[in-house]
Amino acid sequence: MNKLKEITKGKAKSMFTTDNGEHLVMHFSDDTSAFDGKKKEALLGKGAVNNQFNAFIMEHLENNGIETHMVEIIDSTDSLVYKLEMFPIECVIRNRATGSICKRLGTEDGLVLEKPLFEFFLKNDELGDPLINDEHIISFGWAKNDHIIKMKEITYKVNEILSKLFIESGLILVDFKVEFGLYKNKILLADEFTPDGCRLWDSKTLKKMDKDRFRQGLGGVVESYHQVADRLGMKIET
Ligand code: ADP
Ligand code: UDP
Repeated sequence: MNKLKEITKGKAKSMFTTDNGEHLVMHFSDDTSAFDGKKKEALLGKGAVNNQFNAFIMEHLENNGIETHMVEIIDSTDSLVYKLEMFPIECVIRNRATGSICKRLGTEDGLVLEKPLFEFFLKNDELGDPLINDEHIISFGWAKNDHIIKMKEITYKVNEILSKLFIESGLILVDFKVEFGLYKNKILLADEFTPDGCRLWDSKTLKKMDKDRFRQGLGGVVESYHQVADRLGMKIET
């Protein structure tokens, strides 16, 4: 397998074509961004920890019945994935209220929600990833109704599987974002699941262990990702 051409360079990852038209190489860089790209920094070693973290979580999800785009991990920073037709949508589940929802609804930070809350956001940095609903998605043709139903169902299942995994390691899965795409008409979980795209709090102290350390300038970002990986029993190659 050869990495041929960089087809997308996003805020944290690059995708490369391969000599096999079905697959892409997903390269995790050290680039870190927040506030829709307004705050940026390269954090040494973040790409490596995130690639291996993602591979571990995707494998755990596959073992629990979730179909993902992962083919295999290639090396410390790269993974091979199926090339998908991505939905321009982010699926978020919140178990506790924090971040954008507190600003939007004026609710108490850290409030435990009565029921996990699902939200859709449109992937559009210039617009600050606006909140959208099923009606917007259907009317603008971003996805079909049966895809919407599937994306919600899978995201709730991911929440159940991972909340259990993290709590067993003393971590609360506060909220997370996932993305989906189509491969031969089948919906697959795509992109990444890493501390860049979720919130993880220590279950005793409520210490933030995720990208909020970067957003809020708390420091020790990559160290914290390693601590989470250690707690889950991952062996990270640096
Ligand atoms: P962003 O686009 O938010 O800057 P990244 O730096 O993480 O994000 O870039 C990765 C890009 O690759 C995202 O746009 C994501 O939707 C896309 N992507 C993730 N998985 C796949 C896949 N299997 N096939 C095609 N595109 C993918
Ligand atoms: N999230 C993400 N990418 C985004 C927006 C949000 O990975 O473009 C994740 C974020 O890390 C958190 C969850 O989705 O785990 C909910 O984020 P929120 O809406 O609170 O937005 P934020 O406060 O991060 O702007």
